Amino acid sequence: MVKHEAMTTVGVLGGGQLARMLALAGAPLGVRFLVVDSASDACAGQVAPLLTADWRDFDALADFARRCDVVTFDFENVPADTAHWLSERAQVFPNARALALAQDRLAEKTMFRELGLETPAFATVDTRDDLVRGLATVGCPAVLKTRRLGYDGKGQFRIRTKDDVDAAWSALGGVPLILEAWVAFERELSVIAVRSKNGELRTYPLVQNWHADGILSASLAPAPDAQELNATALQHARAIGERLDYVGVFALELFVSEGRLLGNEMAPRVHNSGHWTIEGTACSQFENHVRAVLGLPLGDTSALGISVMLNWIGELPDAAPVLSEPRAHWHDYGKPARAGRKVGHATLCANSDAAMRERLERVAHVLGRTEQAAPVLAALGR
Ligand code: AMP
Repeated sequence: MVKHEAMTTVGVLGGGQLARMLALAGAPLGVRFLVVDSASDACAGQVAPLLTADWRDFDALADFARRCDVVTFDFENVPADTAHWLSERAQVFPNARALALAQDRLAEKTMFRELGLETPAFATVDTRDDLVRGLATVGCPAVLKTRRLGYDGKGQFRIRTKDDVDAAWSALGGVPLILEAWVAFERELSVIAVRSKNGELRTYPLVQNWHADGILSASLAPAPDAQELNATALQHARAIGERLDYVGVFALELFVSEGRLLGNEMAPRVHNSGHWTIEGTACSQFENHVRAVLGLPLGDTSALGISVMLNWIGELPDAAPVLSEPRAHWHDYGKPARAGRKVGHATLCANSDAAMRERLERVAHVLGRTEQAAPVLAALGR
């Protein structure tokens, strides 16, 4: 137990806002952190010791491994062979195999199907001919994605008609790709799951998410009208957790199409659509991840009322209107403003849809964010 291991150190590969929030959640448990990132100004370095090193700097990584009891990730694109190398020198959770699988959209979707989670129709694309053949089976509209290193809508090309083939191929061709049917989903949901070393799995309630330009814009938790889907999501998360012998938090991004869940992707780490759990539950995704990787008992994942998370992309709005609200929480990641970059978020909490609507309308109006809040307000209005 932590009580007897006051010097327990969790190493985190990647020093962004996720590592920062992990360190903030672990501090009350007496856990120390050591973060490694190639950028010397990585924002987690403001709250935990930061080792500046490249993912291939094995001398620095050996030093890092020696100084940590357990190693985990804030960044899923850490090269899988680096994760492998580290797992021969330290305990690494989640394991390198789970990380490698989640880095490949094709392997991920293939696993979803094997485990009974439906997915959008998809085809492997390595050549232009594959793309033409794939479109004939998957149909239009479709989306061509890089199998690896894609996130937040990066490495994706929408294909509306067959005439887009050349443009899509010249944009992305040359690396392994996956072609997916474009799903006219009713809504996007995600489930955050945590699995312990002894195989216990808990999920947070499903969250409804809205994206802008492929980046998460807002989340509403718990997702409205999702009783049955919650039970299904738990089963899928359990099957995936068992298959991968997973330890820690992971997220499953899902589409709801014709009332059924389709798997879009899995994130082998704490996830942006789980930020609401910091104030909206008794034990956040960050604390539960720390607990899981250290072999501590998992915490309660049930929601305390309703939460809405608004993401701040590019630059932070004025904090004061949010801070003036009751049960409203401000998170500034300490990063310089830059287009497309996640620089912070706010979470509003309330006990009823009506109270949340009122709070959210007021905040969105004062901040000039009515467009961002509009779909959340519509979902709350049902
Ligand atoms: P991804 O990086 O795959 O999570 O994609 C980012 C966002 O693009 C998703 O959250 C969806 O809003 C949208 N998207 C991705 N793939 C599809 C698809 N096959 N059908 C419809 N929307 C998609």
